[in-house]
Amino acid sequence: MKTALDVRGSGTHEVLNQALPLADYNLFSTDRVLQEALDREGAGWARSRLEEFGRLTGTEEAIRWGFQANENPPVLRTHDRFGHRIDEVEFHPAWHHLMRLSVEHGLSSLPWTETQPGGHVARAALMLLASQNEAGHTCPVSMSYAVVPALRKQLDLAREWEPRLHSARYDPRARPAAEKSGALMGMAMTEKQGGSDVRANTTMAETDGAGGYLITGHKWFCSAPMCDAFLVLAQALGGLTCFLLPRWTPDGERNGFHIQRLKSKLGNRSNASSEVEFDRAWARRVGEEGRGVATIIDMVQHTRLDCVMGSASLMRQALVQAIHHARHRKAFGRMLIDQPLMRNVLADLALESEAATVLMMRLARAFEARETDAGERGIARLGTAIAKYWVSKRGPAQVNEALECLGGNGFVEESILPRLYREAPLNSIWEGSGNVICLDILRAMNKEPEALDALLREIRLARGGDSRFDGFLTALEQDLTASANELEARRLAERMALAFEASLLIRHSVPEVADAFCAARLGSEGGGAFGTLPASTRFAAIVNRAF
Ligand SMILES: Cc1cc2nc3c(=O)[nH]c(=O)nc-3n(C[C@H](O)[C@H](O)[C@H](O)COP(=O)(O)OP(=O)(O)OC[C@H]3O[C@@H](n4cnc5c(N)ncnc54)[C@H](O)[C@@H]3O)c2cc1C
Repeated sequence: MKTALDVRGSGTHEVLNQALPLADYNLFSTDRVLQEALDREGAGWARSRLEEFGRLTGTEEAIRWGFQANENPPVLRTHDRFGHRIDEVEFHPAWHHLMRLSVEHGLSSLPWTETQPGGHVARAALMLLASQNEAGHTCPVSMSYAVVPALRKQLDLAREWEPRLHSARYDPRARPAAEKSGALMGMAMTEKQGGSDVRANTTMAETDGAGGYLITGHKWFCSAPMCDAFLVLAQALGGLTCFLLPRWTPDGERNGFHIQRLKSKLGNRSNASSEVEFDRAWARRVGEEGRGVATIIDMVQHTRLDCVMGSASLMRQALVQAIHHARHRKAFGRMLIDQPLMRNVLADLALESEAATVLMMRLARAFEARETDAGERGIARLGTAIAKYWVSKRGPAQVNEALECLGGNGFVEESILPRLYREAPLNSIWEGSGNVICLDILRAMNKEPEALDALLREIRLARGGDSRFDGFLTALEQDLTASANELEARRLAERMALAFEASLLIRHSVPEVADAFCAARLGSEGGGAFGTLPASTRFAAIVNRAF
């Protein structure tokens, strides 16, 4: 088969058997799993919005922005040419295009502005598309969405900031918030001496005598430092407390928020992650003194959902690239897609991607109803931690295997695969690294047994649908009755995640997907690597369903 590129020869040879670049395709309408999940989880009304966004994110132009934003990473400008501190970060125009696209389509605000139910679900689906094109810019988008529940613990601040956060206008000008049409927010908890153990924070807060606070100290990681304000943790008289620290004071002066340097990172290069110092920076308290962790945890809970989404999206994009390549590349006289072993690899990758997507979308629905439904609150609480642990652990392995499907072309920067590969480990580091999440799962099971009950009730809905699932679940339930210790926490988290994914696939996917998943992930018929599904698997059906 000749592809369109074949006709472009060079002086010495004809260029043959190279795949066409995957561009100008619709990320949503080519994703049946996501379409089904959108309807099922209660956001069918957002279909046309998703169609449009899927078209936009798949254009050659938007794909180019993703490459440009990563090839031209942000640059820190600490001072102007006259020596005044400015603490600004300069971005390539492509970054701003990506940000505008996402903010204006409601990715940072939709669940808080949408009047009909399903806002969290619709947004999760939109994020899955945006992040496939370019993941770095979704960091400030995610934090600006996630900050709202924490902010609502201080109603005066919520009233002041929410209209700007919800405006769906991207306004990157470095100006006092009052002069801007839209705002973005970040968070700064991690310090040099510890990120997981934030109670060890040394940053101090003293009252300014006028209802505000002055913050002195540092943060070792502060992503998206060009945001308009940050939730930060600092030690006040009453203990570790959450504060809202704006870049500008109410007098229109630059706050004592100084960017020391930008991190040079493995991935996530389009996004700026910085080290910052606070020099008596003016801030306002969010929630009570001493309740800092309890206040900011609501933000963290929402960004954890976005970590699941982020990993699911990298997995989806890697899968799509692999299938596309295999459909256009021939080896040993046959298209790769028709080679039995390649079909096994692709089908296995597709199972993992579908499981991650349905799990992420189910959790988004739980976020939707968590205020009014105790069961959904439990699923959101425990299910998100479990999914954050497992899906972000599967991401790097899945992207690695998909990269290999492209052979040498997958290792070359002109393909998107190296970028996906570098990005993939991040979701299991920030917002709680693997071990810390597993400890949180144990804590949730001990302190909130009703969350575990709710999650198990949901998982059990698939009982009777597959004997391997039934056996797996029974064994899991037995082990859950014994008190789990830290040494076993990873294994337990993994089994709960697999049971949740299998339950969703048995109930909602096609039989060939559910059957292969149960065989390979719950039974004894799968191997350690991808491409080890049993020979009875309906490979073509699974791959065709995927893309
Ligand atoms: C690109 C990037 C951007 C970031 N952006 C931000 C940001 O905007 N704001 C912010 O506040 N932070 C940010 N972070 C920081 C991130 O949240 C922390 O790196 C993370 O929470 C881990 O903290 P740490 O690096 O101090 O590692 P540590 O806390 O030292 O942990 C090191 C390892 O020990 C494990 N560990 C910790 N405690 C235990 C235990 N009790 N038992 C077993 N194992 C344990 C952890 O799981 C981890 O694997 C960012 C990080 C990265 C990489």
